[in-house]
Amino acid sequence: MVIDCKHVWNYISDFIDGALPEEIRVTVQKHLDHCEICSAILDSTRNIIILTADDRVFELPVGFSERLHKRIDLELMRFAP
Ligand SMILES: [Zn+2]
Repeated sequence: MVIDCKHVWNYISDFIDGALPEEIRVTVQKHLDHCEICSAILDSTRNIIILTADDRVFELPVGFSERLHKRIDLELMRFAP
C-alpha cells in the first residue's frame, strides 16, 4: 500500500493520537521516514498540540486586540470595492 502526502495529512492527527489501524500507521510511518514535507508537518502539528494542550493562558499585550481590529478594518477597507 502506497500513499501520497495528501493521505498522510488526513491521517496525521490520528497518527499522533495513536488511533490509526496498525497497517495504516506503518504505511504512514514509512512515508514520514522518507518525506521531509510530511515530517515537517508532523513536527509542527505536534508543537501546536503541545502549545494548545498546555493549561497556561497567554496574556496578550495591552492594546493588542484594539490594534488587531484596527489593522483588520484597514485591510478590509483596502479590499472593499
Ligand atoms: Zn509526504
